[in-house]
Amino acid sequence: MHKNFKGIEKTVYGRGSFSQLGDILAPKRTENNQYFVFIVDQYFKGKDLENRVPAEAKDLVYFIDVDVHEPTTEQIDTLRDEILAKQGLPSGVVGIGGGSVMDIAKALSLMLTNEGSSTLYQGLNLVKVPGVYHVGVPTISGTGAEVSMTAVLTGPVKKLGLKCEWTVFNQVVLDPELIATVPTDWWFYTGMDTYIHCIESENGHFNNAYSHAYAEQAMKLCRDIYLGENAGQTPENDDKLMVASLMGGLSLTYSEVGVCHALSYGLSKILGTRHCYANCLIMNHLEDYYPEGVAEFKQMVKRFNVTLPQGLAKEWDDETITKMAHVSYNLPHMWLHAIGENWQEVITIDVLKDLFKRL
Ligand code: NAD
Ligand code: ZN
Repeated sequence: MHKNFKGIEKTVYGRGSFSQLGDILAPKRTENNQYFVFIVDQYFKGKDLENRVPAEAKDLVYFIDVDVHEPTTEQIDTLRDEILAKQGLPSGVVGIGGGSVMDIAKALSLMLTNEGSSTLYQGLNLVKVPGVYHVGVPTISGTGAEVSMTAVLTGPVKKLGLKCEWTVFNQVVLDPELIATVPTDWWFYTGMDTYIHCIESENGHFNNAYSHAYAEQAMKLCRDIYLGENAGQTPENDDKLMVASLMGGLSLTYSEVGVCHALSYGLSKILGTRHCYANCLIMNHLEDYYPEGVAEFKQMVKRFNVTLPQGLAKEWDDETITKMAHVSYNLPHMWLHAIGENWQEVITIDVLKDLFKRL
């Protein structure tokens, strides 16, 4: 079976394009109860961008602190119930922030029209009806959440996305000016998420000419940004990073992620380590699987004097490491891609535990 992916319907790209958001939303304001919900990263509270959010009198604006925890099912359900009780069904939802805020906007859009708790819809194609119109405005680039068909939520039982065609944004606004203030460590970790998406998408059985074309270009951009003559957090590189993030996301959509992401999910699920940072911690030790990619990754780490802690596993008991290994093992699509049909002969719980012990 080949992937038949619904992409973003409309994309505007360019410096200052955020100013077009009001005009973009205007024709949609006649839908449902004729108002918009804006979900904005708390970081922008009191900043210049707050005054540029094109909210009208009836609109609801929520500032969300994503550092307290990653998006949860409970958070989405509560927000949805509150919004519907206050003003009924909105014309649409706009998410202005990083992967966390974009996932909240995507999930909220779906949950406004689907009954019951969002825990019922964690998985592939469980959502019953389309959500409301939704727009993504990334303010930190790398995860590819702006283009993916999933909204990752942590629930009482599982950390899993609401994954279906309707999750994909109707519109994205890619304005590189918005990522200028990202702290350097996050700029590095999230950018490396893009780079790792490409390395993993390229090195596996599902790679094909289509996913390769995106990965090749995204990797070229990453090399300019993190290793080139003018490497660093500059406006020119921010222009490139926004595009690299999108293309890295498209590459893995048509191929798959691999060893690093499979292990990273184990680490995040059991210890709550943030996605992009977890990937960096793990990539540092994957030379057996991605020798060239890891060598280049290490050059980038060195170039920006990033310290990736070593010896973490010494603090973990066997039970913790075994739990991580089981989470990773239960991602067969990633192993099938990275290793092949016989992956179960190569990847065992013990192999995974040994990999975690390298951290
Ligand atoms: P994030 O949204 O969690 O934000 C990281 C930090 O950067 C926060 O402190 C935030 O306030 C800050 N920030 C955001 N924009 C800023 C700006 N312009 N200036 C200064 N600070 C800014 O970061 P992320 O790494 O993009 O997202 C991680 C989340 O994405 C996780 O919840 C993960 O589960 C999810 N994720 C989703 C997908 C997907 O396809 N849907 C893929 C990977 C990860
Ligand atoms: Zn990733």
